[in-house]
Amino acid sequence: TQTTTQATSQTAQSEALFARARAVTPGGVNSPVRAFKSVGGTPRFIREAHGAYLTDADGTRYIDYIGSWGPMILGHNHPAVREAVADALQFGTSFGAPGEREVELAELVTRLTGTDKVRFTSSGTEATMSALRLARGFTGRKLIVKFRGNYHGHADGLLVEAGSGLMTNLDGALGESAPSSAGVPEEYAALTLVSEYNDPAALDTLMAERGAEVAAVIFEPVVGNAGVLIPTPEFLAALHRVQGMGALLIADEVMTGFRLSLNGATGLLGLKPDLTCWGKIIGGGLPVGAYGGRGDVMDFVSPQGPVYQAGTLSGNPLAMAAGLATLRTLEADAGIYGRLESYTSQLADGLKTLAAGAGVAISVNQIGSMLTPFFQGAPHGSVRDYAQAARSDTQGFGRWFQGLLSRGIYWAPSQFESIFVSASHTGAELDATLEAARAAFADLN
Ligand code: PLP
Repeated sequence: TQTTTQATSQTAQSEALFARARAVTPGGVNSPVRAFKSVGGTPRFIREAHGAYLTDADGTRYIDYIGSWGPMILGHNHPAVREAVADALQFGTSFGAPGEREVELAELVTRLTGTDKVRFTSSGTEATMSALRLARGFTGRKLIVKFRGNYHGHADGLLVEAGSGLMTNLDGALGESAPSSAGVPEEYAALTLVSEYNDPAALDTLMAERGAEVAAVIFEPVVGNAGVLIPTPEFLAALHRVQGMGALLIADEVMTGFRLSLNGATGLLGLKPDLTCWGKIIGGGLPVGAYGGRGDVMDFVSPQGPVYQAGTLSGNPLAMAAGLATLRTLEADAGIYGRLESYTSQLADGLKTLAAGAGVAISVNQIGSMLTPFFQGAPHGSVRDYAQAARSDTQGFGRWFQGLLSRGIYWAPSQFESIFVSASHTGAELDATLEAARAAFADLN
């Protein structure tokens, strides 16, 4: 039967699972981007993952560039993480009371990031949502400023001009400061002011007009959710200016934290936010988020202060164990970020050369182990903002994506996502990826 199944379809098992899933789950998935909606085709149901590889329900192996959307910086099923979780498991799965691992992870995170205090949640969304409530509670102000195409999770007030998932599913049809999702009252969206990423003058103007009402400016210090966008020094300077106006600066490092350096993108770029949000890598593949920063601000969080925030599974011992093992492994390996950068910049150079050889216009944004090939010839050689990103040839990208997938490369299924390289990706994976990319570019002609 194995041979018959293979001959009939390479995706028969995934298709069958997808049909069952659609009957009992909206769209058949538990997070929209997994449905391959913008690129078409059958989402692969994954059976197992090791190192740089995923194996789907039909037994096909892929080189993985999604890394569970960021957490798997060490590669899948890393022995240090697996052993730490297995060890923690012997002692129970959840206590609903404080335990030593939470203290250890908080000590490690505050030390690595130069923050005073941190509070753990179970997702990045909870972290950003809570950081904003805290900023409002601390400043006594109501308004939030965010940037077009930045995604900060799915809390109501943040689903405004909110980046990748929404760019992909709503065909980019986002109005001025309008909610990006049905079910978000306009009254909530009205409390979120939207400015342009990498446009310091726009931020200065907005702050000059409304600055006294602004509780916080939240931003991705390197954007991953409109595809990769890298901030200009002028934009970073404008972000710093908001701190002089009584608004808190909140760096959303859910994606970039512990990925671009041990102190994230802010460490790399020399930014000093008042609060920082984390997720993904901080939990090593288990559900963890966190927010932290200045002690005087964090002391406003309950039970110390008046801003309420809680979680039944916050500080869960298995999740803390996975986070600790991941961060400790990163810290112990002094060369790891250099190796990630080297692999990813070789991938970027290879993609540029191959696309040029095939006569396909692309513009690659890459920093550390994050990369997006925008299918367009960008005017100044790089894509700087949301509006420019949205001009990409999403159909061309979709066909290239299918070309990669059919050759065993599991790339992010949307033009407006970053891919993530892990420490398990080696020269062999790089060569195989570039060979598949060469063929996939050739398919476009
Ligand atoms: N903030 C950023 C920058 C993100 O990339 C994400 C998720 O992709 C989130 C927040 C939300 O995190 P979570 O999906 O864990 O709720």
